[in-house]
Parts: sequence; C-alpha cells; structure tokens
Amino acid sequence: MMTANITESNGRLCRVCEAKILPFMSFGKMPIANGFLPPDRTASEYMFELAPAFCRGCSTVQLMEQPAREKMFHENYAFYSSTSRHMQTHFKAFSEIRRMLLMWRVPKASTR
Ligand SMILES: [Zn+2]
Repeated sequence: MMTANITESNGRLCRVCEAKILPFMSFGKMPIANGFLPPDRTASEYMFELAPAFCRGCSTVQLMEQPAREKMFHENYAFYSSTSRHMQTHFKAFSEIRRMLLMWRVPKASTR
C-alpha cells in the first residue's frame, strides 16, 4: 500500500457537492476489475491509481482518479447494478440526496 502524498487533494473536487476531496490512502496502480487478460497482453494492461478520498462537504468516499467509463464497462464487465433491486433503491435514494445537496448548497467557504 502506498501512503505518499495522500493529504493533498490535488485540486480534485467532490462529484456530489463540488467541495475539495481529501485522499486518505492509496492502493497504488490497479487494473480494472474483471478485465482478465491473457498473459501475453498484461504488459499493456490499463492501470489507474486506486486512491479513495473523503469529502467533508457531503461525507462521501470516492476515487481520486475515476477510470474512463469505456475502460470500466467493457465486454467482460460482470456487474450490472440495474439487475439488483437493492442497488436500484440505493442509487435512487443517492440521487435524491445529491439533488437536495445541489438545491441547498453548502457554503463553499466551509468545505473548501
Ligand atoms: Zn461532497
């Protein structure tokens, strides 16, 4: 586990409330989940920094570096949240929370 430079937000903003996010650890460079490649293709495998960060503005945890969606949702991607009623309920509630946060925007001076 890498721990260097985990206190700087690097200017990254929360995807929910747009406050600065603060990384608290890093797992280093990681491949995309469920992207199993044959041994002869691993040298060119796409990697991204798996570093979660915390937002004091809305208390969410999110990744500092979000891989491009084309990299994540490939032909071998095995998890579809739309097939889970629990996940549908979760994301519907989450979107409502985000909508309310945007309506009642937290003063930026207190979260940045
Ligand atoms: Zn936030």
